[in-house]
Amino acid sequence: MNRSDAERVASVLNAHGFSLASSESEADIILAFACSVREKAVHKILGLGNKWSKMKSKPKTILTGCILEQDRKKLGKKFNLVFDLNNISVLENFLNKSICPNNLNNPKNPNRLKDDHKQTNYLNIQPNYISKVSAYLPIMTGCDNYCSYCAVPYTRGREVSRPEEDILREVEDLVKKGYKEITLLGQNVNSYGIKSQIPNLNDQSNPKSKIQKEKDHNTYYLLHTTKTESKFINLLNKIDAIEGSHWIRFYANHPKDFNDELIDFLKNSKHFSHYIHLPLQSGDDEILKKMNRHYTAEQYLEIIKKIRTEIPDCAITTDIIVGFPGETEKQFENTVKLLEKISFDMIFISEYSPRSGTAAFQMDDGVSHEEKERRKRFLNDEVLARSVLANNKKLVDKEVKILVYKKDRKGFMVGKTEGLKDVRIEGTAKIGDFTNIKIVEANSWGLRGNIHC
Ligand code: SF4
Repeated sequence: MNRSDAERVASVLNAHGFSLASSESEADIILAFACSVREKAVHKILGLGNKWSKMKSKPKTILTGCILEQDRKKLGKKFNLVFDLNNISVLENFLNKSICPNNLNNPKNPNRLKDDHKQTNYLNIQPNYISKVSAYLPIMTGCDNYCSYCAVPYTRGREVSRPEEDILREVEDLVKKGYKEITLLGQNVNSYGIKSQIPNLNDQSNPKSKIQKEKDHNTYYLLHTTKTESKFINLLNKIDAIEGSHWIRFYANHPKDFNDELIDFLKNSKHFSHYIHLPLQSGDDEILKKMNRHYTAEQYLEIIKKIRTEIPDCAITTDIIVGFPGETEKQFENTVKLLEKISFDMIFISEYSPRSGTAAFQMDDGVSHEEKERRKRFLNDEVLARSVLANNKKLVDKEVKILVYKKDRKGFMVGKTEGLKDVRIEGTAKIGDFTNIKIVEANSWGLRGNIHC
């Protein structure tokens, strides 16, 4: 999501006459995207802000992205501007003034930056795509799920979906320009279209914010069970009808919203990749309940079984958090058992990081840093490596379609499968081309294939 946001913000900078600098020391402006989801990431941004503020060239430093209110104060001291993405005019005003830096902070200047700017929807900005092959396209932003460990509903706010016609126009435009891979993005794409008028509960000027929070949360679930999927599937069907030679994916899903209709759609679609990212987070029911995830390990497993029955070649990836407050060894083992049973194509593992303002922040952490590290290492080395190898080996001697997307450090061209597995190519290939390849070797972290099959 940050990359997609950056492509839109880069477009605003270009429109104000700025272009990409080749190094930090040459930059007039340094713009960073924060991620308040983990404490580590906040420390990293603080360190960078500190470093940039001491640079001899004195660049203007700007920060945006996912920022918790309490982090905003700390970070604000290190950056010239901290702005919300949904208030892009603040950036535009800053850029206009930064051409005459002396005016910037002068209280007598009639053009001085004020806080009451007209809000512009940044999702409508035409992005400056980094790649000529793959594009990220947000279909919604924010989240209404309030998983107990997650800061996103507080940093990005409540769910807002983009109008269908804007999304279709952007997909059509990308396909016309020759893009081969388009990823539809959202914190929970399955609930696309559900939200239109729910008030912004993070808006401190709204006195009803806190009172309405619980009520609106319940409203969300009511709405969700009746309408959500059909709007998402409806959108996917229209996107699938756009002619061209390209792959489409969507990211990320929530297991409580993932249903048979979506599996059916993927099975029969023309352009959608057989790839599903379905965050599990934990394989233990008690921890899932404390995480406010609204599904059990058994229900999750049922979804996986259906996907594997209906779309046998579908690659499935997931997210896991180790060391959630109070996670016992037994509960961790339940996660290990479920991961082994499912055998994922990739697992993104993170250690639990307390974020102030979230429900889990009030819980007694109870799992030491060393133990979190041990659990993460165990999953990486013992579970993930084995499951990826087993799945990759199933592709040996098979012919698969890949999209060539980069050259590696040793000069080999690299492609990706529909399931996002990297394939080192033996033979000549051009970036941006689809090609068929015979897989000749598999290991835990990738595949090798021969183009002349
Ligand atoms: Fe965070 Fe849960 Fe929303 Fe994902 S679904 S963004 S983990 S609150």
